[in-house]
Amino acid sequence: REWCVALPKVELHAHLNGSVRNSTLLELAKHLGDKGVIVFEDVKDVIMKSDRSLPECFKLFDLFHILTTDHDTVTRIAKEVVEDFAAENVVYLEIRTTPKNNEAKGMTKRSYMDAVIKGLKAVEDVDVELFGSNFRTNETLSSKLLDGVTKKKKIYVRLLLSIDRRETTSAALDTVNLAVEMMDQGVIGIDLSGNPVVGEWETYLPALQHAKNMGIPVTIHCGEVANRKEIQAVLDFCPQRLGHVCCLNDVEWKKLKSLMIPTKMQVEICLTSNVMTGGAPSLELHHFADLYNAKHPLSLCTDDSGLFSTSLSNEYYLVATTFGLSKFELFQLAQDAVQFVFADDVVKKSLKEVFKHAEKRLL
Ligand code: 5GP
Repeated sequence: REWCVALPKVELHAHLNGSVRNSTLLELAKHLGDKGVIVFEDVKDVIMKSDRSLPECFKLFDLFHILTTDHDTVTRIAKEVVEDFAAENVVYLEIRTTPKNNEAKGMTKRSYMDAVIKGLKAVEDVDVELFGSNFRTNETLSSKLLDGVTKKKKIYVRLLLSIDRRETTSAALDTVNLAVEMMDQGVIGIDLSGNPVVGEWETYLPALQHAKNMGIPVTIHCGEVANRKEIQAVLDFCPQRLGHVCCLNDVEWKKLKSLMIPTKMQVEICLTSNVMTGGAPSLELHHFADLYNAKHPLSLCTDDSGLFSTSLSNEYYLVATTFGLSKFELFQLAQDAVQFVFADDVVKKSLKEVFKHAEKRLL
């Protein structure tokens, strides 16, 4: 376990509001309870419950959003989430979040994102590289990332803007346009997420296509439920990365493994999340093993570390204990994730240096 914490890690699939500390959620719920907005005792039990089905998760997200969606709280949770990942020795974090309009709070999608970025800039214990490579030399980056003992820890953070499946075509397009507008502020990609039994692929397609046309990398939640038509459409769309891929049939597996455009679509594997929500029957029977044995590009991710009470170190530990991967193989797995970050080559080069340095210490 300690070795998995010490291992430098790359997190590519983490939802901001799914990664909030339970203690923070409870504190926020208590506050709203005192104000009479919610009944604290009811909410407390829901937050502390450990097993959650997929539909329950989405109900819970609606509750989380009531607790977290004002500017100051968004800033707070963004700050805490980065601190938590950095404490796990995550050296590169792509955090995804759904920009939200909320008239009652005077919130627009843009002001929501500004609040997120304010939180990232407020982190003190760790050096956060939000705009990264454009402004720093490799030497500075590497030396800071390499030596967590004498210098502050360092973490690259990049943002993906999520389209919620409940949104209209026009709202989804607003999110992609916002991403275009914020490309110089740490935003580097688009994600499609939200309740997989809600909405139609055709609704989001114009926005996803727009992102593609603008050269913005896209990752899509794929196959969380057995929606054959949509899985086919997602594979045909060919995003750079796919999340989950739980319910693919034989033909779809074959297609996923064989498509090369220009490289294979990388899969963001979320073990704990998939087992808890029933996307995979058990850890032992998780499709990680199939993809790993086929040498299909993949990376381990947390999805919602708060909601599922996990951490990225824990996900590596689970892979070691369930599938018998050696330290060398775990190291390789962590290192290989660098290839699939949406950040530029300078960041990739710097991350490779971090792994090269860590190799001497860990293997
Ligand atoms: P937020 O975007 O508000 O920061 O993070 C929470 C949101 O992420 C949820 O409301 C939901 O839209 C999305 N999300 C989190 N976890 C999952 C998941 O496992 N599957 C899907 N499809 N969406 C998720």
